Amino acid sequence: MKPTLNWQIASVKAIKPETAKVKSFTLTLPEWMRHRAGQHYDIRLTAEDGYQAQRSYSIASEPEREGEVDITVERIEDGEVSTYMHEVLVPGDRIEARGPIGGYFVWEASIHEPLLLIAGGSGVVPLMSMIRHRAAAGAKNPISLLYSSRNFEDIIYYDELEKLGSANHGVQVFHTLTRSQPSDWKGYARRIDQDMLKEVAQPLGKSVQVFICGPTLLVESVANSLVKVGINSNQIRTERFGPTGG
Ligand SMILES: Cc1cc2nc3c(=O)[nH]c(=O)nc-3n(C[C@H](O)[C@H](O)[C@H](O)COP(=O)(O)OP(=O)(O)OC[C@H]3O[C@@H](n4cnc5c(N)ncnc54)[C@H](O)[C@@H]3O)c2cc1C
Repeated sequence: MKPTLNWQIASVKAIKPETAKVKSFTLTLPEWMRHRAGQHYDIRLTAEDGYQAQRSYSIASEPEREGEVDITVERIEDGEVSTYMHEVLVPGDRIEARGPIGGYFVWEASIHEPLLLIAGGSGVVPLMSMIRHRAAAGAKNPISLLYSSRNFEDIIYYDELEKLGSANHGVQVFHTLTRSQPSDWKGYARRIDQDMLKEVAQPLGKSVQVFICGPTLLVESVANSLVKVGINSNQIRTERFGPTGG
């Protein structure tokens, strides 16, 4: 068995609230292996009667951090695993984890093409690992993030994204808020559509590499629209997080 498929006992080192419904968990791993930005871990919970539940969570942190990873979990109403992580886990607890997993939805800083990252909700998590990896590796390729959230309060990593976007190091962040917007909002205020994709994608040129992650319906509609605005499907990678269209 590959080492990444072995279950290991991770310790919860820290828990950080990101939004009202989202928390990041720093997990210390005894058999830590360097991941590739975009990969995930599986988390397994076992009840006293032996019942087990297992879910995947993308790695949010950069591969350069050794011995531990951050995962960022949105609390899903009535969800088995996400509610346990939000309501029961405290620092010092131990949970079963295995990873890093995945070889398709990954990006390495040695790839020099411009990057377009498109996220809906918690789909920003693996893309954040890519953005953090780019910063840690000192990569210079232009990178744009188009990030759709319902409301301003739901934006995950807002402050860090603002800092990275305003540092003028080739990172551009575009937000769209689909349900409500603050009165002084200057970003987009609708679901991602072809016009928005054209505006964000065109400055990145023809060789752009695209990663889309989020709820299934968002991922499918964005991927189809991108093809319609002229981006080749072999330049697009997708990851679907869940059944809802959000
Ligand atoms: C490769 C991969 C990476 C993932 N990374 C992340 C991550 O970084 N952060 C994160 O928060 N989640 C991530 N997910 C989703 C995660 O694996 C779980 O599906 C999610 O946490 C719900 O699990 P649960 O046990 O709480 O809910 P469940 O008990 O499985 O489901 C409860 C109810 O919620 C619905 N539901 C299940 N999943 C979702 C969802 N994603 N969105 C909306 N409704 C849902 C179900 O249909 C059901 O009605 C990822 C999924 C995949 C496949």
